[in-house]
Amino acid sequence: MTNNPFERSALHTDAATEDGGAGTSAANRSEVEWREILSPEEYSVLREAGTERPFSGEYWDEFSSGTYSCRACGAELFTADTKFDARCGWPSFFAPLAEDRVRYIKDSSLGMERIEVQCAQCHSHLGHVFEGEGLGTPTDLRYCMNSVSLAFTPEN
Ligand SMILES: [Zn+2]
Repeated sequence: MTNNPFERSALHTDAATEDGGAGTSAANRSEVEWREILSPEEYSVLREAGTERPFSGEYWDEFSSGTYSCRACGAELFTADTKFDARCGWPSFFAPLAEDRVRYIKDSSLGMERIEVQCAQCHSHLGHVFEGEGLGTPTDLRYCMNSVSLAFTPEN
């Protein structure tokens, strides 16, 4: 199994075909339940793959030590150790906390070929991953996430 998201995304072309009921209660929640749990802004990003406006979120300029979890289900997704300042207005990481925390979906919307990143546990939308931008990170990947998809827990 490769860790490269651009190869792994070939495994998933449709968010609905995965897992066959192996999942947790979070993955099986109905959209009606998500609407009750999440705020309207959280719902539009996490469940409808919306995008928050750049430089508007809570975490694009947050660089304290700590852990970023899924806003929808609480799964730990990223640590501050892999966060970097991409100057794009969204929280950016060069790697997930572990490869099994996220999953990759080919996204051909907006006339572009992109790789969507979802929470592996609840399949909520987090953002997209880009490669080869030359930003000087160890992986040359940029996990461009929405602040509203994440919940930050500072260390200590
Ligand atoms: Zn989740």
